[in-house]
Amino acid sequence: MPETLRKIIHVDMDCFYAAIEIRDDPTLIGKPVAVGGLAEQRGVLCTCNYIARQYGLHSAMPTQTAQRLCPELIMLPVNMSKYKAVSKRIQAIFHEFTDLVEPLSLDEAYLDVSVVTEYKGSATLIAQAIRERIFKTENLTASAGVAPNKFLAKIASAWKKPNGLFVIPPPAVTDFVKTLPVEKLYGVGKVTAQKLHALGFKTCADLRQIQSLTALTTQFGKLGQHLYEQSRGIDHRPVDPRRLRKSVSVEHTFTHDLTQLNEYQPALLDLHTKLLQRLQMITEPRPIKNQFIKIKFHDFTAISAEIKSQKTDLQCYQHLFNNTYTKINKPIRLLGVGVSFAEIESVTDFQQQELFE
Ligand SMILES: [Mg+2]
Repeated sequence: MPETLRKIIHVDMDCFYAAIEIRDDPTLIGKPVAVGGLAEQRGVLCTCNYIARQYGLHSAMPTQTAQRLCPELIMLPVNMSKYKAVSKRIQAIFHEFTDLVEPLSLDEAYLDVSVVTEYKGSATLIAQAIRERIFKTENLTASAGVAPNKFLAKIASAWKKPNGLFVIPPPAVTDFVKTLPVEKLYGVGKVTAQKLHALGFKTCADLRQIQSLTALTTQFGKLGQHLYEQSRGIDHRPVDPRRLRKSVSVEHTFTHDLTQLNEYQPALLDLHTKLLQRLQMITEPRPIKNQFIKIKFHDFTAISAEIKSQKTDLQCYQHLFNNTYTKINKPIRLLGVGVSFAEIESVTDFQQQELFE
């Protein structure tokens, strides 16, 4: 199927955890509500409703800060088994429309509806039907984006949030992308965005001024190709229903390079807490094989180290860090921790091979 004819929908539930809690306790309606860890335990918000967002609250914000900005905030503990059960039913709704569903987390998925013939084959009508079906069965709202590829569908789903639908039809892609700020592109984080801004690249139109792909890859490496393609509205990634994550990691770029040994401990603790939260969001949990850390130094050199492990363990990360850091004692600009999973597919391959020997 020619890429221009692909029809991709990105569905994203609106403040999923908070919305479920409010649905299950109507006394919470109209109040600022957040789900997350306790301030006393240095917890952070997993999500909060739109009333809370008016106070400047957002996910990943420390609970302590959130409660200072919004003293009347109702803080609820994370009830992951409940959210997972709801997520499972929503995933089942997606599969009523197509089997080409790639879940990104408990509350988000890409759907490829290119060959669906129902709803006159209209991705817009399908997206509308999915949103209605979720609302009817779960009493929860979802936002959806429709576009010819994943990158644009994901941007589109956030465009009219909450409870919105936004469509970027193929003829509108070029104009839509022009005004898009570079920080909306995948692979562009806060630090890269700053770097791009400093070079005069604020929007995709600015990036498109660079007409040679080589010029961008020379300057930005692999990211250069993504920038080249995305600024032209191109994204070849297929919706892959069997895509299994090989690893999960979280990282943080510090505003100031860390030089003191006593600064690393709290940073590692924070990252470990965030990693545990990310692991809970995975739709298909798998056995852990390794724990790893990643360090980037002030001079942009990087090193990573890993250790065999079946769980995530803070002490292990500290051990890995100390071992690595004592060898290379330089100021640190980025720290990351993660786990890699046992490869289920390669195990199967191996067994099949044995059968034929
Ligand atoms: Mg969401």
